Amino acid sequence: MPLPVPAVRPTPDPPVNLRSLGRVRVLEALTAARRLSRPELVRRTGLARATVGSVIADLIRAGVVTDEDAPRAEGLRTGRPARTLSLNRHAAHAVGVDISRDHVRVVLCDLFGEPVWDRDLHRLPDNDSGEVLTTAAELIAQARRATDVPAERILGVGMGISCPIDRHGTLLAEGIMPGWIGVRPTDELRERTGFAVRLVNDANAAVLAEHRHGVAQHCGDVVYIRLSTGIGAGVISDGRMLLGAGGLAGELGHVIVEPSGAICRCGNRGCLETVASPAAIAKLLSTGTAEPTSTAELIDLVRAGDRGAIRAVEDAGDAVGRALAQAVTIINPELVVIGGELAAAGDVLMAPIRRAVQRNTMSWHTSDLRVVPGALGDSASVRGAAALVLADAPERLAGLVAG
Ligand SMILES: [Zn+2]
Repeated sequence: MPLPVPAVRPTPDPPVNLRSLGRVRVLEALTAARRLSRPELVRRTGLARATVGSVIADLIRAGVVTDEDAPRAEGLRTGRPARTLSLNRHAAHAVGVDISRDHVRVVLCDLFGEPVWDRDLHRLPDNDSGEVLTTAAELIAQARRATDVPAERILGVGMGISCPIDRHGTLLAEGIMPGWIGVRPTDELRERTGFAVRLVNDANAAVLAEHRHGVAQHCGDVVYIRLSTGIGAGVISDGRMLLGAGGLAGELGHVIVEPSGAICRCGNRGCLETVASPAAIAKLLSTGTAEPTSTAELIDLVRAGDRGAIRAVEDAGDAVGRALAQAVTIINPELVVIGGELAAAGDVLMAPIRRAVQRNTMSWHTSDLRVVPGALGDSASVRGAAALVLADAPERLAGLVAG
């Protein structure tokens, strides 16, 4: 069964024995700090020195931890160098897959979540989920061939998809991704690859990635909005992913911003998506001198100073800001992150978003609020999908070590 709750602070089941618990604690400490001395490990884990010693010996033998000279401080050239322990980032890997209506991207990430292999394929048929999943499986096989990572050193596959997912792991694809109605992508991809697969909404994956690797590190309350073909949001509240009763929190693309606007693919009228998705913006420009056929073309027009494109993106930014203001009022985040392909429009988009958030919230909500572009660009979702798997890496790695 797919894991429906991507916890930012994972609370694993109790490990089976004390030795395994010790390994998990040591691995958690090394994952968080990257590099620690033995005394620091003893202090951080609360384990006895002898226990840390034997756990470390096991982990070094298994190639999971390396023991090396600490870098010397400038000017200190005498005395025995201190030894530090660090996680061998290549001891295991996680696969991230990101699927939207017309593209599939696969990354293979090391234990620190850094991609060691990355491919992005566009213009896939959106109505053939089987073909897209087969392509994803082929890309995973390519990644393994290119990097020589054996199957037993892959902790699993995280799959982000631009479609609402309920708490039972069911895609709510009607009107969103018609070719995926009734499909169980976790089962289908597991059958094609042999790896356990976890499913997550792409905006939830993206907020997880920005929290682990990007602009939202050390932030406990974050709203991330993804402005792509579809619009969705991922929310971290008090350090945990906010999913809602049905797993559907954060569907900001379907907040009403123009009550008498166009009919949305969800069947309602005037949703944010009908105003601020790249396709909606392109439609506005169809009577002008240039009609972009892709988000990249739209961004090019903005950068070239096309007045119509700039005006359309500014108005979209205003609508995004009004929708975000409601989220800010309800959730009270410290950080709002703007992601997705449209974020490449830069200040033309960001300035009206910031202004509309400011104008439509109480001053207490925005006095310390930052509204910033994401740091990871369009790789946020795929890296977040891998991060979902890596959140359990200490437990999984502890299980890999024999003894
Ligand atoms: Zn809608």
